Amino acid sequence: MTKIGLEIHSQLTNLESKLFCSCKANYREFEPNTNICPICMGLPGSLPRLNQKAVEKATMIAMALNCSTPEKIAFFRKNYFYPDLPKNFQITQLNIYGDTSVGGGGILMVGEKKIRITRIQLEEDPGRLIYEGSSEKNQITLVDYNRAGTPLVEIVTEPDFENPKEVREFLNILSDLLENIGVSDPRLEGAMRADANVSIEHGNKVEIKNIGSFHDLEKAVHFEITRQQSLHSRDIPIIQETRHWDDKRKITISSRSKEEDLDYRYFLEGDIPWVRIGNEIKEKLKSEMPESISSKKQRYISKYNIPSQVADVLSSDKFYSDLFEEAHTQENAKEIANIITTDLMGLVDTREKRESSKLTPSHLKAIADSIQFGKIARNSAKNALYEIVRTGKSLSDIMSDLDLGNLSDESELSKIIESVISEEPQAVEQAKSNPQTINYLVGKVMQKTKGKADPKLTLDLLKKKI
Ligand SMILES: [Zn+2]
Repeated sequence: MTKIGLEIHSQLTNLESKLFCSCKANYREFEPNTNICPICMGLPGSLPRLNQKAVEKATMIAMALNCSTPEKIAFFRKNYFYPDLPKNFQITQLNIYGDTSVGGGGILMVGEKKIRITRIQLEEDPGRLIYEGSSEKNQITLVDYNRAGTPLVEIVTEPDFENPKEVREFLNILSDLLENIGVSDPRLEGAMRADANVSIEHGNKVEIKNIGSFHDLEKAVHFEITRQQSLHSRDIPIIQETRHWDDKRKITISSRSKEEDLDYRYFLEGDIPWVRIGNEIKEKLKSEMPESISSKKQRYISKYNIPSQVADVLSSDKFYSDLFEEAHTQENAKEIANIITTDLMGLVDTREKRESSKLTPSHLKAIADSIQFGKIARNSAKNALYEIVRTGKSLSDIMSDLDLGNLSDESELSKIIESVISEEPQAVEQAKSNPQTINYLVGKVMQKTKGKADPKLTLDLLKKKI
């Protein structure tokens, strides 16, 4: 049986400052090496101070993943030399004196399948290496320490996955969960990275390191299973090793450095005392925990009669559910859910589009109400939504700018209906004997009015006139 385990690194992107100093957590906004200080550079004499909010967010993740959380947590030094690590050690967590990481022993359900969470630990991210130059010969490596010391949570699973599809589903559910509880924005570049352990039956475990996208991770796991099966079928032993994903060639390659043989000389970080996380803090965090995605989904279905598939899309994306929560009433909930999951989705499918979108919940409410009261046709509402996302103008302004309002003036509509009746004598005869075929005539009226005729009024008038 194939066994796959994951180690996921998720940045806590919603924090103000780094894990042990007051430099900004949002390192992306800075020129290289300007978001640094003596603490995150590890200069002699500097002392780290633990960011309490980071501990709270990490504990929230542990709670949301049904982990047990210890009374006290501790930090350790993981010693190694690498250019992106200015201190020559990383401050992280380790369970050698009992359980002192922020959480462990959790569970996350992927459909019917239980994925066990081994451990959750809080640690600092290293800096970034940037490679420049076109060929290997003239390549230079630059280092940017802006990221060094930013808060990172590592989530380690048991090897409970059996195929790449389960891995992908788990990562989607996990990233939705992290976004929902407000600890991380998975859409930010580099916010989530993962390592995967892959082994097939009777084979050694192979680790694939540092993959930056879910899509690539799924591909890498798939490639690795195929590679191992191919070796096994030819009686070639599978070596226990660390491999890297080459995203240009779409293959895994053996790492030259034998990272698994490194001795990290872990020891307790003496500059940070053990931190007590008492029941009062845990209770406070529990009370601050937002409604879970599954509970939202159930509520949307039972309270508003929203179809399960629509409720699924709506609840799992925080951007959508936040819009929905603010815009909906009992009456228009279904309509708003429908607008968000059909017309809006394509307009705000990237982080950039979401940031530049001018749409507010009150816009959504206005559109849904106008559709329900027959003031605008669905197709016109779609065009209006596009304009609102782009310009932020009010629905009524856009309707008059683009002439999108429904044709509900009875005398004007009557004239159009009469012309359709005279142009379609056969269809009129048919509609007299078989009332269901009247929809053909409604369609003709819609054609003539470019979809702006009020459908209910059109039908009423047609019935009267035939
Ligand atoms: Zn700093």
